Amino acid sequence: MSDRVAIVTGGARGIGAATARKLAEDGMAVAVVDLDEGSCAETVKAIEAAGGKAIAVGADVSKAEQVTAAVERVAAELGPPTVLVNNAGVLRDNLLFKMTDDDWETVMAVHLRGAFLFSRAVQKHMVDAGFGRIVSMSSTSALGNRGQANYATAKAGLQGLTKTLAIELGKFGVTANAVAPGFIMTDMTQSTAKRVGVDWDAFVKNAVSQIPVGRGGRPEDVANTVSFLVSEGAGFVSGQVIYVAGGPRA
Ligand code: NAP
Repeated sequence: MSDRVAIVTGGARGIGAATARKLAEDGMAVAVVDLDEGSCAETVKAIEAAGGKAIAVGADVSKAEQVTAAVERVAAELGPPTVLVNNAGVLRDNLLFKMTDDDWETVMAVHLRGAFLFSRAVQKHMVDAGFGRIVSMSSTSALGNRGQANYATAKAGLQGLTKTLAIELGKFGVTANAVAPGFIMTDMTQSTAKRVGVDWDAFVKNAVSQIPVGRGGRPEDVANTVSFLVSEGAGFVSGQVIYVAGGPRA
């Protein structure tokens, strides 16, 4: 994969940062995309310190003109991107009766419109290269989760997008898959613990008690799965949803 260029959105921290580091370790040049270019510095520094190549790109994945500019910059500075990981995400959890229009729109914009815009912007580079790998970050919440009408809908929507991209782009050597993590220990899950007023250690203990492998997920668990799905050897795996949850369900 040494001549491949990858884009990882939401790469400043958590699962995105671990994925960016892993793809760089696999030999790809990586564009680390996040809302604020400065926040990507740590991920880029870690990749460079390990001998890899990366650039930081600031873009809001939900804004078409910023996505177009980001992809153009990546193509100019690193080469045509043929690997895309749609990972950027936000939570706006609330029970339905308290969920605001903004809670709904924000989650749809970042997860769904973001993945659509980036996939549309990179597909021509993939088609031209006759090779492409798109991985979108779904979630076990796609199966339904209390307080997450917006997030569960968006994560289920990403699975539909993935299957459609797999059908449309397959003949050009492009695969599309979704990874659906369960409980992964990141800032996002820490913010949930804080919001519901549960101490982090107790929150982890409760989550782990329901996970068959008996531990919490790490960003690297997800990164390793993405690494397989974007590899040359995974060319016959497309339109799938891989649950990375330490067991068969959330
Ligand atoms: P995280 O630590 O909160 O990281 C998410 C990153 O996305 C942040 O760096 C954030 O930037 C960035 N981001 C948010 N909105 C953006 C936008 N509009 N444009 C560009 N970047 C944006 O979350 P995580 O836990 O690593 O989760 C990564 C992905 O996995 C998400 O899609 C999430 O839904 C999914 N997931 C996570 C879990 C879990 O248990 N952690 C489980 C299932 C699925 P800022 O810091 O500037 O906001």
